[in-house]
Amino acid sequence: MTEHTAPMSPTTPGEFADEIRKELKYTQGVTAEQATPADVYVATATAVRKHLVDSWASTQHDMVAGSTKAVGYFSAEFLMGKQLLNALLNAGLSDQFYDAVKELGFDVQDVIDSEYEPGLGNGGLGRLAACYIDSLASKGVPAFGYGIQYRYGIFKQEFDEQGAQVERPDYWLANEEPWGHIDYNRSQRVNYGGSVVEENGKKVWKPAWSVRAVPVDYMVPGYASGRVNTLRLWSAKSYDEFDLLAFNKSEYVDAVKPQVAAENISKILYPEDSTPQGKALRLEQQYFFVAASIQDAIRVFYPGEENPDLTTFPSKICFQLNDTHPVIGIPELMRVLIDEYGYDWDTAWSITNKSFNYTCHTLLPEALEVWSAKLIGELLPRHLEIINKINEQFVAELGTKTNDSAKIDRMRIVTDGEDPQVHMAYLATYGGLHVNGVAALHSQLLKDVTLRDFSDVYGDKFTNVTNGVTPRRFIRIANPRLSALITEGLGTDRWLSDLDMLEGLVPLAKDDEFVKKFAAVKQANKVAFSNYAKREYDFDIDPNTMVNSMIKRLHEYKRQSLKILSVISQYADIKSGKVSADDILPRTVVFGAKAAPGYKMAKLTIQLINNVARVVNNDPDVKGKLAVYYPWNYNIRLAQHLIPATDLDEQISQAGKEASGTGNMKFALNGAMTVGTLDGANVEIRERVGAENFFLFGMTVDEVEALYAKGYEPKSYYEADPRLKQAVDMVADGTFSEGDKGLYEPLVTDWLNKDYFMTLADFSAYMDIQGEIETLYREPLEWSRKALLNVANSGFFSSDRAIDDYLRDIWETGPLGE
Ligand SMILES: *Cc1c(COP(=O)(O)O)cnc(C)c1O
Repeated sequence: MTEHTAPMSPTTPGEFADEIRKELKYTQGVTAEQATPADVYVATATAVRKHLVDSWASTQHDMVAGSTKAVGYFSAEFLMGKQLLNALLNAGLSDQFYDAVKELGFDVQDVIDSEYEPGLGNGGLGRLAACYIDSLASKGVPAFGYGIQYRYGIFKQEFDEQGAQVERPDYWLANEEPWGHIDYNRSQRVNYGGSVVEENGKKVWKPAWSVRAVPVDYMVPGYASGRVNTLRLWSAKSYDEFDLLAFNKSEYVDAVKPQVAAENISKILYPEDSTPQGKALRLEQQYFFVAASIQDAIRVFYPGEENPDLTTFPSKICFQLNDTHPVIGIPELMRVLIDEYGYDWDTAWSITNKSFNYTCHTLLPEALEVWSAKLIGELLPRHLEIINKINEQFVAELGTKTNDSAKIDRMRIVTDGEDPQVHMAYLATYGGLHVNGVAALHSQLLKDVTLRDFSDVYGDKFTNVTNGVTPRRFIRIANPRLSALITEGLGTDRWLSDLDMLEGLVPLAKDDEFVKKFAAVKQANKVAFSNYAKREYDFDIDPNTMVNSMIKRLHEYKRQSLKILSVISQYADIKSGKVSADDILPRTVVFGAKAAPGYKMAKLTIQLINNVARVVNNDPDVKGKLAVYYPWNYNIRLAQHLIPATDLDEQISQAGKEASGTGNMKFALNGAMTVGTLDGANVEIRERVGAENFFLFGMTVDEVEALYAKGYEPKSYYEADPRLKQAVDMVADGTFSEGDKGLYEPLVTDWLNKDYFMTLADFSAYMDIQGEIETLYREPLEWSRKALLNVANSGFFSSDRAIDDYLRDIWETGPLGE
């Protein structure tokens, strides 16, 4: 290992400053005197890349020359966050950077702030992909992340005067982006449309149009592994052929049109997070990156070979399908093997079957992607034939396993009838070796409910890998104070690549002096966050209040409504004098969330939260007791600042709806206490940190199901709890809409008549646990002790552990050279 542990030898600060000066001069053409912080940022990034390039090259070389199977992580989203500090950390240059920038006469914060955060993902699913490629590199496992370099990432969120969400395009490539290397020499052709003809007894696809997929490569440096993997994001360009063809006919405008259409493919990330949009462009995107990536993998592992022996393909690389978005890869690999390399169906199937595994990220049946066969046929006619044939083979195979024809019917990959539909999750389950859920409860529910028929017949395929988050970004970089204290407590910083070592902090929870240091770290982080919020948002957050955060995509199932109704109730109690001034625990509630632009209820909830904030924060009666803030444009950067400063985090989804959650893990690892339901990974977090160190409330999955079965009537809960009635009435009566009783009508009507996610049914339990929370918070030492035990017992939620699970149970591979 040693030869790999240090990427290009660490430099002194003075040498690193010289390297930055050189980049400024020879790459950017400015002197250190002329340079702006943005110039220094670009120069530093360029210099760091040079430190990593040898390890990058040797990792590629060893991967292709060696016999360790690689992993291709296929994901429509990679929510990477800013790269500079992560690259510096993994290149072993963090300290040198701080000193070098000072030597050059710049403010380190200004340089860091010059980096623009790429938003190539919506939320948890995209961030998970980013954590996993970080852990793969840190373990020295050869891997590619494969995805799309969208020109516009997730929209930039602003709020208007009325507190409503406004979406602005996020043109993240407007300024120099020093991390991605565009490699025109390794582009791939991706075909669409046309028809399939028979030639010499062979099926031949005659596509109507093509797009050029150009890879943009990002280095993915491992922490302390000396390995650097690749994130290859494809960008769509047009082929000039279009122009030439049409010029002959002098149809210039018609020639330009397909060019625009081609480049549209990688133009925008769909701002959805759990419901599919039945749009052709989305399927074009999915096929685009998957087709390019499969060709790329063959090129990488069989360099220069005209007739590669692709029966060895599954021993070279296996593909992980991050949700259903890349599932079209299964028929694509079949097509490549049969049509382009001449393999027979059975051989192709055997190779394909071993090459794919599928991670399911949802329990909401409406979030499982389904495409109309008609659309697939228009866009990918050969693939539709292959999918139909896979379906026939599947139905025949099912016939040998069960006599239950209704069940076989339910399981069909392609439905019968006039307008057949293709179930991508079913295709993925049948077409690959393994299917995994993302938390123990989720995997169980997948087997029992969502994919029950499949688990009956193909039980062996099903497994669980509980999600994880990378401790490098979410502890070391986000929370340097806590990191230093952990290192002090454990006497080593090896915990950063072996997070189970955090258990060594358990005995220190009995040491009052250590617990006080831990509390001081939290307090310093709160002051730092307050300063950050002032600078970025002009908020006046009092760091001496409890910081209570709820940050995640805005979705009804996550139940931001429950939180805001409770805030309204607390506000009403303080106003009415129902609680005396001495009994009030000062609290700052912080929300962060984007809503999909077409999701009306979610957007109205945002508006309600903003207006509750406006009313509460301007009311002298509650000043110093309750405050509500909603920093706009929640992203990784905000997460990195807010999570370390949070005392209490909210994981309050309706039980059975959150597949895992990873926000919950980030909070526990940063010493926040969680109030939450028995949902997703909350279950495992609570098991590990101890029931006495977790604020549990609300219905269980079984209770939720029983209530649905019995017939849920939200109004009865509204009538039964005066606190709830008062809060809902205040939303209805215009308190938070300057007297306008119509504004929140859709929300109120939904709460009282439908409330599918049972916000009202869980309200009383949620309010009741607040007393317990406040009692504990009034004992600062005891609170901090419990928060410290959350840190100490959450090592399991490292993405390194999750990757170990994948390596052992799914990919059957490991670090290079072992
Ligand atoms: C971790 C993270 C998420 C996921 O949060 P959940 O609470 O698990 O939904 C979403 N967005 C960002 C920016 C994150 O860092």
